[in-house]
Amino acid sequence: MPDSKTKYIFVTGGVTSSLGKGIISASLAKLLQSRGYSVTIQKLDPYINVDPGTLNPYEHGECYVTEDGAETDLDLGHYERFLDRKTSQANNVTTGRIYQHVINKEREGAYLGKTVQVIPHITDEIKRRIRILGKTGDYDFVITEIGGTVGDIESLPYIEAVRQLKWDPEVDSLVIHLTLVPYLSTSGELKTKPTQHSVKQLQESGVQADILVLRTEQSISEDIKRKVALFCNISEDAVIESANAETIYDVPLLMQKERLDEVVLNKFKLASASEPDIQEWKNFLERLKNPKQKLRIGLVGKYIELKDSYLSINESIIHAGVHNDTEVEVEWIHSESLTEENVSNHLASLDGLIVAPGFGERGIEGKIAAVKYAREHDLPFLGICLGMQCAVIEYARNVLNFAEAHTTEIKADAKEPVIFLMEDQKTVTEKGGTMRLGAYECKLAEGSIAKAAYGEDLITERHRHRFEFNNKYLEAFEAAGMKATGLNPSGGMVEIVENTNHPWFVGVQFHPEYSSTVLNPHPLFMEFIQAINKQKQ
Ligand code: GLN
Repeated sequence: MPDSKTKYIFVTGGVTSSLGKGIISASLAKLLQSRGYSVTIQKLDPYINVDPGTLNPYEHGECYVTEDGAETDLDLGHYERFLDRKTSQANNVTTGRIYQHVINKEREGAYLGKTVQVIPHITDEIKRRIRILGKTGDYDFVITEIGGTVGDIESLPYIEAVRQLKWDPEVDSLVIHLTLVPYLSTSGELKTKPTQHSVKQLQESGVQADILVLRTEQSISEDIKRKVALFCNISEDAVIESANAETIYDVPLLMQKERLDEVVLNKFKLASASEPDIQEWKNFLERLKNPKQKLRIGLVGKYIELKDSYLSINESIIHAGVHNDTEVEVEWIHSESLTEENVSNHLASLDGLIVAPGFGERGIEGKIAAVKYAREHDLPFLGICLGMQCAVIEYARNVLNFAEAHTTEIKADAKEPVIFLMEDQKTVTEKGGTMRLGAYECKLAEGSIAKAAYGEDLITERHRHRFEFNNKYLEAFEAAGMKATGLNPSGGMVEIVENTNHPWFVGVQFHPEYSSTVLNPHPLFMEFIQAINKQKQ
C-alpha cells in the first residue's frame, strides 16, 4: 500500500530536447490544481553543476531564484507562474548536487566501508530527493520532470531511479513520455518512427511509458494515434497530441481538450468529482488576445540574443500588460551597442525602459547611457538589480557630478564607490551559491511610488547580488532628489531608489520578476505599465 496519498508523475523526453516538457508539466499541474488537487512540480537536471547559478545564461537561460534562496532552472519560474505556488530548493535537483551529497556522506564514513556505487547509492539519493516533496504530505501530486533526453548518458541514473520507483509498493506513480512526431513535407507525412524508437529505448531501461505526449506541427489523426498506441504498448486514449500553441498560456487548455488530466486521473483510479475550474485562466487568455491598447518598451541587456536569459522579466511584462488590457511590445536592445551618441536612435520611439540585471563589465556603459536618456527624457524607467545600480551610478556621475562614480564590481578602486561589495560578501571566496540570495524584507517609504504600487508597508522580495548601494552617499543622493524608498529593516540596505524629479523612475535591488504570476501580476510591473499608459494619453 502506498505510504501517503501522494501520486508521482514522471515526465521524460525523447527524440530531441526543447520539446517543452516544462510547459507540459506545468499545464498538467494547472489542470489538476484546477480540479482541486494540490500539486507541485520538480525538475531533475542531469548536468554536473551543483546548481545553474554558475552557468552562463547563454548556456542555460535565466537562473531562477526561489524564496528560500536556491538558484534554479528557469522551468521553476514556469511552475510558479502557472500554479501560483512557491517552489523551493527541493524543487530542483542536479546530478552535481546528488553526487556532492553522496560523496560528502562517504567522507563522513556514513556508508560503513561499503563500495559506493551508482546503483544503489546514487539512485537511492535520487529517489530520496524525488520523495522529499511527497513526504511533506502537502501534495496530492508531485510531477517530476527529468531534464535531458532519454538515451543520454547523464540521464541513465534518473531513468533507473524511475524504474525502481515504479516497482516500489510504497509509491503510486506513472510515466509520461514526451516525443516529437516530425512532418516530412516532401512526402506530406507525419512520421512516428522516432517516437517508436524512443519508447523502445525507455523500455530497454525497464520503463514502460503510461502516457505519450506527441509534439507536432501538424494535427495528428486518430489513425496515427492508434498506430502509435499499438507499437508503443500504450492505451489509445493515452496518446495525446501537443500541437504548436500561439502562447505557452494556451497549453493548459490544449491539454484539457486532449483530456490529459482525465487520462492521468483514470490511470491512478481517481474519480474526478469536478470539472477543472479554469475560468480565471480563460479570462486571462481572452484579455491577452484582445488588448485595448498597445505600447512599446525597451529592455536593455547583454544577453538579448537569447531571450530566455530574461524570461521572467518578459513574462512579468506580459502578465502586467494583460491585466491592463495592454499589448506590450518589447524591443530587445543590446547594451553593448549603446553609446551616449546613438542612444536616442534606439530609445526615442519607446514608451518605457527596463534595464536588466547582470554581472560584469560587458555592456555596462551602454546601460548607463540608456538610464541617462530615460532620466533626461522623462521616459518611465524600471531598473532591476544591476539596472538599479546603473541608475545610481548615472545619477552620481551626471547629477551629483561625481565624474568617477562606479561600482566596485567593475572598478575595484573607484574614487566614488557608490555601489560597493556588501559586508557579508567580503570574506566569500567561492562562487556558487554565495550571493545574497532569496527573500528579504523591505520597508517602504510613505508617499513613494513603491508604497502606492504594493499598498503595504513591509514587503518581501527575492535577491541575487553581491553589491549594494553605499549608504555613505545616501544623504547626497536624497538631497539631489534620488530617494531611498525601500530599506531592509534590519541592515538598512537600500532596496529601492526613486528619482523624485521624474514622473516614473524606479530602481530595485531585488528581482520583482521572480514573483509575477499569470493570475497575480507583480505590483511594480503593474504600476509601471499603468504609468506608461497614463503618460501616453
Ligand atoms: N552584479 C550585481 C551584483 O552582484 C548585480 C546582480 C544582478 O543584477 N542580479 O550586485
